Amino acid sequence: MYDIIIVGGGPAGLAAAIYAARALKKVLLIEKATFGGQITQAVNVENYPGFETIGGMELGERMYDQAKKLGMESIYGEVSNIQKDATTFTIFVSSKEYQSKALIYATGASPRKLGVVNEEKLLGSGISYCATCDGAFFKDKTVCVVGGGNTAIDDALYLSNLCKKVYLIHRRDGFRGEPVKVTFLKEKENVEFILNATVKEVLGTDRVEAVLLNENNQERKLDVDGVFVAIGHEPNTKILEDFIPLTPNGYIITNLQLETAVAGFYAAGDVREKQVRQLTTAANDGTIAAIMACEYLDTLD
Ligand SMILES: Cc1cc2nc3c(=O)[nH]c(=O)nc-3n(C[C@H](O)[C@H](O)[C@H](O)COP(=O)(O)OP(=O)(O)OC[C@H]3O[C@@H](n4cnc5c(N)ncnc54)[C@H](O)[C@@H]3O)c2cc1C
Repeated sequence: MYDIIIVGGGPAGLAAAIYAARALKKVLLIEKATFGGQITQAVNVENYPGFETIGGMELGERMYDQAKKLGMESIYGEVSNIQKDATTFTIFVSSKEYQSKALIYATGASPRKLGVVNEEKLLGSGISYCATCDGAFFKDKTVCVVGGGNTAIDDALYLSNLCKKVYLIHRRDGFRGEPVKVTFLKEKENVEFILNATVKEVLGTDRVEAVLLNENNQERKLDVDGVFVAIGHEPNTKILEDFIPLTPNGYIITNLQLETAVAGFYAAGDVREKQVRQLTTAANDGTIAAIMACEYLDTLD
């Protein structure tokens, strides 16, 4: 029996593991792909305090090593189901079961992909799913943002302050984002709207060089140094649908203590409903969830 099982080994899960292990709890972390989570896909990180610049993979490895040294146990595996009786969680991974008194769910959210040629190949070489994270790498360059919601509009605004030129590509002729923000964006001289257009292909050998668009049923090649995809995220919460309340978009609902509707079940990081999804906020969540889970364990004792 573990004190705390953490599902998901990204920055939120690893921060939680560091705090829980330092509180001398028996901790198991379960990760299905890469310890370190999404950030391991980032070529460079320049906004994590303490590191002027660090590779995403190295940062993830450092977090993992730190938690390991403090006594965290970890396994590779995909959690496929969770059950709870009065005080015990049972977590199912392949044919095995693990039990704990408290659970921290930190499975993140995956950005929706365009699904076009070269998208995977040029990820980190001009394609990004996070303007706040990667915008600074495109200072004085030409980029496009793909999407029509608030995120796309915010990203275009943010990038317009850094980049020489920003194209906002949207498949419709109207925006789902807040009208006031759209109006503000229209006043920016270095922003150009390309409406009724979809990206057919990203062009480039080692780096992004251009995008091929279908604009009003006509092909158009647009030279850009970067492509920011802002068409939403999918929280990794499929298996929770019948277990705890989620938002209509599938994010976990928590209170300020990061408690959910199920006693002993905490959520941390990009997987929960919140405004800002970044490394620092994921680590913040992991910290709160672990401290609150430790307090919960004390009440059981
Ligand atoms: C390319 C890229 C660059 C970025 N750059 C920056 C940056 O410069 N600065 C910044 O602040 N943020 C950046 N971000 C965002 C940042 O990485 C995320 O906000 C952060 O990683 C969220 O942490 P998390 O632990 O909540 O989730 P994640 O990092 O997504 O980790 C969740 C983990 O859970 C695992 N998992 C999911 N489902 C299961 C399951 N059923 N069983 C077991 N494991 C499961 C996943 O494999 C994953 O490893 C970037 C993101 C990307 C994709």
